[in-house]
Amino acid sequence: MKPVRTRFAPSPTGYLHVGGIRTALFAWLVAKQSPGGKFILRIEDTDQAREVQGSAQHIIDSLSWLGIEYDEGPPKDGTRNDFYQSQRLEIYQTWAHKLIDAGRAYADPYTAEEVQAFREQAQKEKRPFLYRNHRPENPPVWDGTTPLRFKSDPKAYSRHDAVMGDLSTSPESIDDFILVKSDGYPTYNFAHIVDDVDMEITHVIRGQEFLSSVPNYLNLYEALDITPPILATMPHILGPDGNKKLSKRDGAKDILDYRKEGYLPEAMRNFLASLGWNDGTEQEVFSTKELIEKFSLDRVQRSGARFDERRLLWLNGAHIRNLYEDDPNQLYRLLGESPDATFWPEEAFAAPYGATYRKRVLGLVQERLKFFAELPDLTNFFFRDLPVDMSLIDNNKQLKKFSHAELKTLLEQAKTTLETSDFSSDDLTNKLNELLEQTGQKPGVLFSLIRVATTWAAASPGLADTLAVIGKDRSLERLNRSLKALL
Ligand code: GLU
Repeated sequence: MKPVRTRFAPSPTGYLHVGGIRTALFAWLVAKQSPGGKFILRIEDTDQAREVQGSAQHIIDSLSWLGIEYDEGPPKDGTRNDFYQSQRLEIYQTWAHKLIDAGRAYADPYTAEEVQAFREQAQKEKRPFLYRNHRPENPPVWDGTTPLRFKSDPKAYSRHDAVMGDLSTSPESIDDFILVKSDGYPTYNFAHIVDDVDMEITHVIRGQEFLSSVPNYLNLYEALDITPPILATMPHILGPDGNKKLSKRDGAKDILDYRKEGYLPEAMRNFLASLGWNDGTEQEVFSTKELIEKFSLDRVQRSGARFDERRLLWLNGAHIRNLYEDDPNQLYRLLGESPDATFWPEEAFAAPYGATYRKRVLGLVQERLKFFAELPDLTNFFFRDLPVDMSLIDNNKQLKKFSHAELKTLLEQAKTTLETSDFSSDDLTNKLNELLEQTGQKPGVLFSLIRVATTWAAASPGLADTLAVIGKDRSLERLNRSLKALL
């Protein structure tokens, strides 16, 4: 058996979004799960008109952030080397001449107008337009100024796709396609075949948009006397409503935006793998080690996979929790230690807050954290006094039934009791329970009131823990301020 070699072959035509990167992940998983398997990155930059400056670098950076490391490919700084198709033109020329010599390629002599006339003729006669019906009898010698076309050998194929299963096609799906364009660059249809052979690729894993061209590719493999690699076609990724293909409007954003918002690469890999794959059990949270062990192309579904960003949020939260359990300091480091590169609110670095305090805060909020950019919203009241906002009381389901005067009386009782606490979590829990008995109020009322009056935030972790971290002086100061506001 040949060692497994898979590749990711993006065109540098813009940023990478989830659909593109999922293909990369699957190809990487197939390589990683096989002993000695290799994953290759190839930049398919043969369409000069569609190329977007900087996008090869962007692809490299995206893979690197996601930890989808390639074994062979461009250098990390994006310098053009042999893994860019634009640097391989001589190789395609050599192969093109092999086909010409074998009588399997010809110079296309027609002008755009002539082709248009053929097309209209076919339309009039209600038959499909095929180039192979118009092969020139005496094609000129190919000098590179005209396109070079493949001379196909139309036939039926039955083949196996590692995802889509057994497929059959008829001769009508085969035509004389362009191998080399008149600008000297090969087409995707030709270049990828040459490169996959040259790079000894064993599995071609790619999107559904190429499925209808596969009969042409098989025909070309035959002409070159090459056994095709294993072909695996990925299902589409559908928008959140599950109807149409995912678009930028549905949230198919740049993969590096997720880095900016503070998603864990591990969670992202888990999410991407779940787009069209499961292991046949109910398991949803997978470590990358598990993905490598368990992934298989034959469990990739054939129908479209629905993109649901809420699922990503949920998975990211789950991975944050796992990371916190395994290594809280690592999570702390990822959130950024310095104000120059940090997800913490700015005030978290002001005196008197140190790393110990920030770690305590993190310990409390990690349970709610779904992505790092939420951190300021979840934690700002630990670092500064938020402005009094009466709507938090007046719109609160539990509190709006009371007059401000009644709330003030309750809060005064709370203050008296809290003044006797040492503000350890345990003691606060006891004191808060005493207070419930004393006042005869429900926790929903009393604890909401104290929470709002000591944080002025829309939500917070458990009250006793929160007060313990905020500390006695500050909590009581805030209570006093709130008492004044409740006139
Ligand atoms: N360059 C093609 C694309 O970006 C690659 C398809 C393939 O993986 O062969 O869609």
